[in-house]
Amino acid sequence: MEVWIAKAAVLAANIAMIAIRAPHGHRSRQVKTAKSFKGRLETALLVLAWIGFFVPLVWLASPLFAFADYPLLPLPFALGCALLVLGLWFLHRSHADLGTNWSITLEVREQHTLVVNGIYARVRHPMYLALFLHSIGQALVLPNWFAGPSYLVAFGLLFALRVHAEERMLLERFGKDYEAYMARTQRLVPGFW
Ligand code: SAH
Repeated sequence: MEVWIAKAAVLAANIAMIAIRAPHGHRSRQVKTAKSFKGRLETALLVLAWIGFFVPLVWLASPLFAFADYPLLPLPFALGCALLVLGLWFLHRSHADLGTNWSITLEVREQHTLVVNGIYARVRHPMYLALFLHSIGQALVLPNWFAGPSYLVAFGLLFALRVHAEERMLLERFGKDYEAYMARTQRLVPGFW
């Protein structure tokens, strides 16, 4: 398969991701933060996630990572596209359900409400699930060993080092309500983990 097809898919998926996030980011910024849990580790992880997000765009626009290119095959490409679409759908649903309780880092907002309905009734971290699906999809669609998995690696690290702190923060804020929510849901995959 020709590489421009992969480039078009990567570009479309990332533009769609930004388009889904932008209005929610804009809206959430207007709600005041009551407490921020953004330490040095969080800041470093966010910088890493941004780098991981931009590497595929550099691959699109320049020959910088051409040393790691490999041939594009139809099967991983098709599977990757399906994961990208599913990821974008979950991203849209979780943003819609989380509303202004969303933030890019660990924060509790003023009048923060605990969301347990919609896609949040199924798993506790649907947005992270969406970003995993998106980044695995991108790793399959983008035929380059370096740029393909860059967001998956960066986001995987962010997730692994953040998820427990996030749950501790929500337990501290919502107490018994979050405890009960934890007891009836899994983190990413219903019935599994
Ligand atoms: N981990 C969630 C949300 C990611 S956004 C997901 O993957 O879907 C991160 C912010 O969402 C955190 O600062 C936290 O304050 C907030 N948050 C996470 N779960 C929440 C919930 N069930 N209800 C309300 N806010 C939540």
